[in-house]
Amino acid sequence: MDINKLIRTNIKNLKPYSSARDEYTGEAMVFLDANENPFNEPFNRYPDPLQRKVKEKIAAIKGCESSQIFLGNGSDEPIDLLFRAFCDPGQDNIVTIDPTYGMYQVSADINDVEVRKVKLNPDYSFSADALLAQADDKTKLIFICSPNNPTGNLLSKSETIKLLQRFSGLVIVDEAYIDFAPGASLLAELNQYENLVILQTFSKAWGMAGIRLGMAFASPAIIQLFNKIKYPYNINMLTQQKALELIEQEADKNQWVELLINERVQLAENLKDFPFVEKIFPSDANFLLVKMHDARGIYDFLVENGIIVRDRSKVVLCDDSLRITVGKPEENTILIEKLKELV
Ligand SMILES: *Cc1c(COP(=O)(O)O)cnc(C)c1O
Repeated sequence: MDINKLIRTNIKNLKPYSSARDEYTGEAMVFLDANENPFNEPFNRYPDPLQRKVKEKIAAIKGCESSQIFLGNGSDEPIDLLFRAFCDPGQDNIVTIDPTYGMYQVSADINDVEVRKVKLNPDYSFSADALLAQADDKTKLIFICSPNNPTGNLLSKSETIKLLQRFSGLVIVDEAYIDFAPGASLLAELNQYENLVILQTFSKAWGMAGIRLGMAFASPAIIQLFNKIKYPYNINMLTQQKALELIEQEADKNQWVELLINERVQLAENLKDFPFVEKIFPSDANFLLVKMHDARGIYDFLVENGIIVRDRSKVVLCDDSLRITVGKPEENTILIEKLKELV
């Protein structure tokens, strides 16, 4: 793969904005370079545009280099940057699986990029050959999501590797739920495949959806490209501070994940005997996809009772299915007790 051939011409030629904090990064006695207000410390200062401290900590826990990390305003930001960097509007296309996370389509639509969807197999697995068959010389990106949303299953590592080996564009693997599937991340392959981009997030296992912090892991060349086109101060100071604090408490995250995995098993066990439950799909994430008789009716009944799940019954291959996030033990109990009223 030659990344220079993949990048849009206008992006390759772009002269990026250079902020005061880009031009001088060290310590100083007096900062008079950024037209900041000298009062109201520390929030009067612009945040680190490259989030160096946060990246160092992430690199340490993930076993990669800081130069392989991009931080975004949620995963939404690197998803959008991928389109903006690599896909010429009205010309290029991407290939992805169906069903999957809705943001790839939305970002593609915003950027006027065609999406070629390949339906998953009935067991929600995918085949690399089927995706590659849809790709042509205008295909710049292939998006995979593992564990997949809304189906919940991990996708085959060997099929993903096949994509990485055979596709001359970028393969994006969205690992938003990977903490719930220990040992399954592709992060260890990062040095081997320069067309691999892995997305992870602080929104799920880390319990920090509110601070909006997403991670992309890729080759330094791709990370530098993202840095070139992102908003100069895309991660605010409060988010950087909070992330630094919480990464120190990784043990909490690990405890939550362990508890939620146990609850997932328990919830599936408690759901399976209801007469209206047809199938509970195996999950490697923090949610269950459950096929039911009259999913919409059950959804409405739950809403009336103050319990909100996600109705996925209009989604391809998910007819009559609800997506249920695994909550705290007492929340899952409330759900089960309420469903008993339907029997
Ligand atoms: C929840 C989720 C994300 C997280 O998005 P953020 O913008 O980081 O909150 C990313 N990908 C998938 C597949 C998700 O389900």
